[in-house]
Amino acid sequence: MKYLAEFSDPELAKRLVDQIHATVTRPWAMMEVCGGQTHTIVRHGIDQLLPDGVEMIHGPGCPVCVTPLEIIDKALEIASQPGVIFCSFGDMLRVPGSGRDLFRIKSEGGDVRVVYSPLDALNLARENPDKQVVFFGIGFETTAPPNAMTVYQAKKLGIENFSLLVSHVRVPPAIEAIMQSPNCRVQAFLAAGHVCSVMGVEEYPELTEKYKVPIVVTGFEPLDILAGILRTVIQLENGEHTLENAYRRAVRDEGNPAAKAMLADVFESTDRAWRGIGMIPQSGWRLSERYREYDAEYRFQVRDIKTLESTVCRSGEVLQGHIKPHECEAFGTLCTPRNPLGATMVSSEGACAAYYLYRRLQTPAASSATSAENKEVSSVG
Ligand code: SF4
Repeated sequence: MKYLAEFSDPELAKRLVDQIHATVTRPWAMMEVCGGQTHTIVRHGIDQLLPDGVEMIHGPGCPVCVTPLEIIDKALEIASQPGVIFCSFGDMLRVPGSGRDLFRIKSEGGDVRVVYSPLDALNLARENPDKQVVFFGIGFETTAPPNAMTVYQAKKLGIENFSLLVSHVRVPPAIEAIMQSPNCRVQAFLAAGHVCSVMGVEEYPELTEKYKVPIVVTGFEPLDILAGILRTVIQLENGEHTLENAYRRAVRDEGNPAAKAMLADVFESTDRAWRGIGMIPQSGWRLSERYREYDAEYRFQVRDIKTLESTVCRSGEVLQGHIKPHECEAFGTLCTPRNPLGATMVSSEGACAAYYLYRRLQTPAASSATSAENKEVSSVG
């Protein structure tokens, strides 16, 4: 297949759905790690096409959603300071911190700007030598390489008024934490293809072996997801647990060596807190000692932040797959995309936003009744 539309072909989708139905004999629960995959599943009703008892659990792979409250509050404090230009991707501006967000800082006179690349922020630093320019570097292994490269460039060009507020997280330690949870129901994973396009697949065989869990590297189009689910249920039914790469058009086993080398030069592993989940050992990156002067936390000395998490929001349970978004009492009433209580409703990759956007507003009971009525492959594509 050459064109994107072909990855939504209803006939091919029907064939894959039929193969999944022909394969499955028992209930299974599998997690799609990435929020982009969650949106494809919910948007196309893929979960409603699966055999009864086959459950898709939505994972924590939304970078905006898992950025910890403490880092958001640090961003708010830095962005409030005079002489600072605070740069971020648009999603982060509405993420609630302890009582306010970056939009509020902007409305109160803070110089908060939306950029489309960390290099835009570096250019701003070049053009404004009398200001401190800070870029909010969040995300998984996909967004970390350009942020690393920007810091590398800043050092190489001697641009000293640029710094990075870092909140980068890594997928494999999160999979490990999910498997170690006493409430874990996940029996298999669809791994995020874009993460693997950077990092390759070498971190996964150890996990499949240790937790006896199949991991299938999967893309983001409807047929990618269905093919990933098919390969996963074949393994589960056969009692196998191996790593499979079902996204070979984008993922080489070794990943992207240039991006990995840049990451290794600029970052080092660290423990990281995930919003709603908690601390996961060695699940993140921070700037290495060589680049410490470009670390905004270090430059602005933002410590002793007291955080205040919403008592209503259950996004931690959503991110760990313990509840579906519409099982949160605030879903669609107190919490909507216009008035979000949690990052999972703010982010374009958040599970709560996906359920709201694609009208999954029913209670779980009503939802499964509707799901039975909706088992038409025509919803794919
Ligand atoms: S619906 Fe809103 S309040 Fe509930 S878990 Fe999602 S983001 Fe939090």
